[in-house]
Amino acid sequence: MKKLSAKKIVFLLAFCFTCLIAANAVNAVEMTIGQVRVNVTFNARVADTWNKVTYANPTQAEADRYIAMMKTELEKYPPGYLQKARATHLILGKNLKIDGVARAAVPDPYGNRLYLSTNGMAGAGSADYLVHVLHHELNHNAEYAIWNDQYYRWNEWASANRAGFAYGQGGASAYSGGGRDYYTMTHPAPGFGNIYQTLAQEEDRSEIVAWLMHDVERDAFIRLCREDAVIRRKARMINQLLLKLSGARAQDVYWQKANACFAN
Ligand SMILES: [Zn+2]
Repeated sequence: MKKLSAKKIVFLLAFCFTCLIAANAVNAVEMTIGQVRVNVTFNARVADTWNKVTYANPTQAEADRYIAMMKTELEKYPPGYLQKARATHLILGKNLKIDGVARAAVPDPYGNRLYLSTNGMAGAGSADYLVHVLHHELNHNAEYAIWNDQYYRWNEWASANRAGFAYGQGGASAYSGGGRDYYTMTHPAPGFGNIYQTLAQEEDRSEIVAWLMHDVERDAFIRLCREDAVIRRKARMINQLLLKLSGARAQDVYWQKANACFAN
């Protein structure tokens, strides 16, 4: 056998070393969720539409834990949903911010992206909160997919509210809202489960979706639904809208649970 020259050995060692580094620097995985090929990035910078989103990299353990939760939750949607809802690139970050302001997530449907904070808003947030945020934010992508507008004003929706009701200044206004509790389900007014919903139509709908998809929060919302005809009407409207987007049937297993909200 021909002996390897010193030069060749050095070359081979350098080559192996490069391979090793490449193998360790995994920063994205492709996975199938609900029959959709999804790209999940958790260790790299992914440019957003506004160039204003920042985050740190989660540790491998944090990323793994988040991905396991995310997969379970997203599998609840009908097959093909993530594609239809324009959320095929999921970017996981820690201490996520947009324009320097902490956020638990940033929907960027313009690029089929959804940025998700593995540690909630600035580190605050229980495991249940992360589940809620995931469904809420995915709904923003879905609404963009339907209307080409994340802030669409749906006339029928507005008329579903009690006469004279007007929404507030949008979801972002909550970030400067002092210590006010926007998110607890307190039923602050007829037609609304929490104060956050009163800020804008899209937040109203996204909260309903999050409650309906959340195994821990759903029952409380269904109780609310049964005692408030406006909430019941709106829950049915958003359910019908998303059914249409998904191409699924109302009786499809998971979404059937949401129907408990307005079924007699
Ligand atoms: Zn929102």
